[in-house]
Amino acid sequence: MDTIAFAYMGGKEYEWLFFEVYDRVRRFYRDVRLPINIVYAGKIILPPGTLIRVETASGFVNMYSFEAVVEALYGKLVEMRDDVNDDSITKIFGITTFPIGSRDRYFDIYKKYLGIQVNVGDYHVLALSIKPFFTENKYLFIERVFKGVLHEIGHLYGLSHCHEDCVMNPPKDIKDWDLRTPTYCNTCLRKLKNKEELMPKLQL
Ligand SMILES: [Zn+2]
Ligand SMILES: [Zn+2]
Repeated sequence: MDTIAFAYMGGKEYEWLFFEVYDRVRRFYRDVRLPINIVYAGKIILPPGTLIRVETASGFVNMYSFEAVVEALYGKLVEMRDDVNDDSITKIFGITTFPIGSRDRYFDIYKKYLGIQVNVGDYHVLALSIKPFFTENKYLFIERVFKGVLHEIGHLYGLSHCHEDCVMNPPKDIKDWDLRTPTYCNTCLRKLKNKEELMPKLQL
């Protein structure tokens, strides 16, 4: 089993969404028989100073600073490993309510529905903002973010973008994203199952 710790980085308002997505991701990997264990790492409150105003093509947008998000997630991962005394946990995935940006670099995540992934030594830090996926339709909101999480986890295990009806096929826009079946295509799923990290370990 390979473990990915999930953390929520936001206020009360969208906590329900985080837990719906978290449950669905957990169930998904179990149902497709991939040995990916999703565990809850807790909630991370970012200090107010981590919100920055970034100028985008559509005006100023409030964002979490990329550096602050990575640092907070990394800190949580280290804390968690110490708490449970388990150093096999090397991956953490943060779900944020605000978009993620930087004063130096604007990632264009706001438009492109992409998450971020950074390697810090042997640790993997991932983050995805729910902001670009927003809709009043709760079911659709969950589904959009769920697909985004599957996409990022696909990259984490080495998948590239795909041209099939698959979560690894990046959307042109949100309507395009809604048309995607909420799963990996057979080719991508097979690639995941052949990843050494995800192969059943020999019991000797
Ligand atoms: Zn991608
Ligand atoms: Zn695919």
